[in-house]
Amino acid sequence: MADCLFCRIVAGEIPADIVAENDGAVAFRDVNPVAPTHALVIPREHLENVAEIAAKASATLGDVLGLAAEVAAKEGIAETGYRLVANTGRDGHQTVFHAHVHVLGGRSMGWPPG
Ligand code: AMP
Repeated sequence: MADCLFCRIVAGEIPADIVAENDGAVAFRDVNPVAPTHALVIPREHLENVAEIAAKASATLGDVLGLAAEVAAKEGIAETGYRLVANTGRDGHQTVFHAHVHVLGGRSMGWPPG
């Protein structure tokens, strides 16, 4: 989608600090990190949220979650632990409507989340 920020990152039209990629997904550092490690894993295909990935491209879920695990390993947080977050819709405070999973780690996470 021409007017989608994350589609433009996938296309290389907007710069991003790419951490890892595979056939179906791309991971890059969040521009406004809230933890020592904060990356976003997104499907290459434009899908609005994780539910839409599951409904329309379920194989891509494996690409996204597999890449999240790879990012955690690369960042050295696989052993200490990390959090995957997929904000969805208004109450989930989703602000970019191209599906993404936040990979957060490098510090202890609070619970419950705000
Ligand atoms: P969400 O609120 O779950 O939709 O998360 C969207 C995330 O995208 C936020 O954490 C933003 O900081 C991040 N973000 C927005 N624009 C960019 C960008 N150009 N490069 C990297 N991350 C971005």
